[in-house]
Amino acid sequence: MKMHLHNQSTVTCNNCGHNEPENMPLDACVYLYECRSCSTLMTPQAGDCCIFCSRGSHPCPTSQRESKSYYVMPQPALQTLDATPITNQSSMAS
Ligand SMILES: [Zn+2]
Repeated sequence: MKMHLHNQSTVTCNNCGHNEPENMPLDACVYLYECRSCSTLMTPQAGDCCIFCSRGSHPCPTSQRESKSYYVMPQPALQTLDATPITNQSSMAS
C-alpha cells in the first residue's frame, strides 16, 4: 500500500494573517502552535485534531490517512491452548 501524504502545511495565523510553511510530524498531532510573526498561540478549532487541520493548508498526516483508508490494526494472535484451526480468514475485503 503506497500513499502520498503531505508532510508540510502552511499555517495561517488567525491574529496577524502570517503564513508559515511547517513540517508536520507523521505520527503525532500538533495541538499548540505559536505564530512566528506575532507569537500568538493557536489551538485547534472544535472537532479538529491538530493545528494543521484548523489553520493549515493541508490537514495533518493522521487525518489524511483516516480520510483515505482505514488503518487496520493487526490482531494479536490468540493464544489458545487447544489448537482450534481458524477457518474464516478470507473475509477481509475492503
Ligand atoms: Zn500571527
